[in-house]
Amino acid sequence: MADYKKPLPRPTVASVPFWEAAKRHELQIQQCGSCGAHIFYPREVCPECLSANLQWLKVSGKGTVYSYTIAEAPTHPTFMEDVPYVIAIVELAEGPHLTTNITGCKPHEVRVGMPVVAAFDDVTPEVTLVKFRPA
Ligand SMILES: [Zn+2]
Repeated sequence: MADYKKPLPRPTVASVPFWEAAKRHELQIQQCGSCGAHIFYPREVCPECLSANLQWLKVSGKGTVYSYTIAEAPTHPTFMEDVPYVIAIVELAEGPHLTTNITGCKPHEVRVGMPVVAAFDDVTPEVTLVKFRPA
């Protein structure tokens, strides 16, 4: 893990709780305290009603593949050893979409609508990435 060379996320003020939860192997998204909307990606105001009354909510991590592509060429030189790999949009049970990777199966086995669950990849001592695997 100490020689992890791939790009790492740079948490913002709004997204620090998401990354801290990921380190604990929990998936957390925001929920609006005014209108109840579930929100991802992390932000400072609700995209539905513009309320700043947002709370963090631990969710199941269950979802389905909304869309995906199989990367046959690396999207960054450090991903060379990973090709082919799946870049996907997962629709969480709560509704929001996350852009992620699907792991734990062969790329050609991924299907739109496939049930998936969050899988946590501790890539460095400080950073855990949220990926998904078949449920
Ligand atoms: Zn709202």
